[in-house]
Order: sequence, then C-alpha cells, then structure tokens
Amino acid sequence: MFKNRVLGLSLLALLMFMVSCKEENKKENTAAIKEEIDDIVLDTIVEPKIQKPVFKSLEGVADTTFVRLADYSDGFAYDLRYATKNNFLKEKVYDCGECYTRAKTVKALLKANEEFKKHGVKIKFYDCYRPNSVQYKMWKIVPNPQYVANPVKGSIHNKGGAVDITLVTLEGEEVKMPTDFDFFGKRAYHDNFDLPQEILDNRKLLKETMEKYGFWSTRTEWWHYNLKGASNDPIANFKWDCNEI
Ligand SMILES: [Zn+2]
Repeated sequence: MFKNRVLGLSLLALLMFMVSCKEENKKENTAAIKEEIDDIVLDTIVEPKIQKPVFKSLEGVADTTFVRLADYSDGFAYDLRYATKNNFLKEKVYDCGECYTRAKTVKALLKANEEFKKHGVKIKFYDCYRPNSVQYKMWKIVPNPQYVANPVKGSIHNKGGAVDITLVTLEGEEVKMPTDFDFFGKRAYHDNFDLPQEILDNRKLLKETMEKYGFWSTRTEWWHYNLKGASNDPIANFKWDCNEI
C-alpha cells in the first residue's frame, strides 16, 4: 500500500515536471517567434534593402573642373539631342549622350533645380558642355555662324558654362514652351510675346529662375543659358569616355 503511494506520488511529480517543461518550451518558442517577427519588422521597415543612390560631393572640387551632372543628383531629365539624329544637323555628333559642365555650372544648376521643384517642374537638358572637336564636327555640317558658333572662336558650350534646357513635370512630362529645341526663328525669341499665356508663363519661370541663380540668356534662343563669367574660361576639348560611364 505504502509502495503504491510512493509510486503514485512519483508518477504525479514526473507528470508535473513534464507539464512544466512543456510550458517552458512553449514560452521559449513564443519568445523565438517574437524575435523572428521583430527581425522581419527591422528588416523591412528600419533597414530597407533598397539603398538610396550615393552622390558625389562638390566640396573641395575646383570651380573650373569638369564634372558629370548625374554624379551629383538624379533630379534632372535628359534628352541629349546631339547624341541622336533628332536635331537640326540630322547627324549624331556625340559618341554617347552625357551632361558634363564645369563644377561651378553644376552648383548653380543644382540650386536652380531645387527652386523649380517647388513649382512642380525640373530641368531637362538638350545639351551641356560640348568639346571643341564636336564644335568642329558641327561646323563642318553647317558652316554658318547664324546656326553654329565658329569653332575657332568657340561657344560658351565649349567652355563648360552653357546649357540648353527646358522644363518637364516631376513625372517627366513636357511643359509647353514656344518652340522645339533649335528652332531658328522669331517664335523662339525672348522678345516674342505673340504666344499663349501658358507658354509665356513657362518661359518666364524658366528665365527668372535661371537668372536668379547666375545665368543669362540670349535674345534668340529661349532654351540657351550661360553662367555669368563663363565666357572668360578657356575653350576646352576634354572628352568623356563612353566606356567608363
Ligand atoms: Zn546653346
């Protein structure tokens, strides 16, 4: 009888021990699952896998150094026409389309673009720095100073201080402007006001903002802007390597 009692108690103790172990396991499992969920939350929310592009800094870069605009911001749009046949020359004169200018021009463009963004638009480039050798190529196709700057004298594009631009929405849609790029005629002149109000407003926003950040325009081309002082820089023939980009 006593033996049975001891046996019964032992069995009960064993049973209780097993139940408590099961509870412990359950607790441990719950803790592990919670940790796993925490990890997933950390993975997806705190540390997203998609990394933001890292841009170079212009700090310490000399104002006259040639730099690639896309290395400093992804906030611009590009339609580099001379790298295609879709231009007034009907010839592709660049090996590949890239927008380089001197660092001081890039600095001013970055500031101007920040302001444009407040209006829901951004700069789209048709042309930027143009190596002198490309100016010679263009002159060979159209040797007329009315349309192409004489390569001996050079253009401010050859000096890294001129850009041909328009505005597009932040989604990249065209904003209405007086003419297409490289339209040679009165409709493209800044002093032509015979245009719909919407177009006049867009051209005004482009001009006033560019002027605010140190650019000046020419009377006959609404898309062309020169950085102040850039005409004093030397003509350059630096060429970017299309294979390295
Ligand atoms: Zn131009």
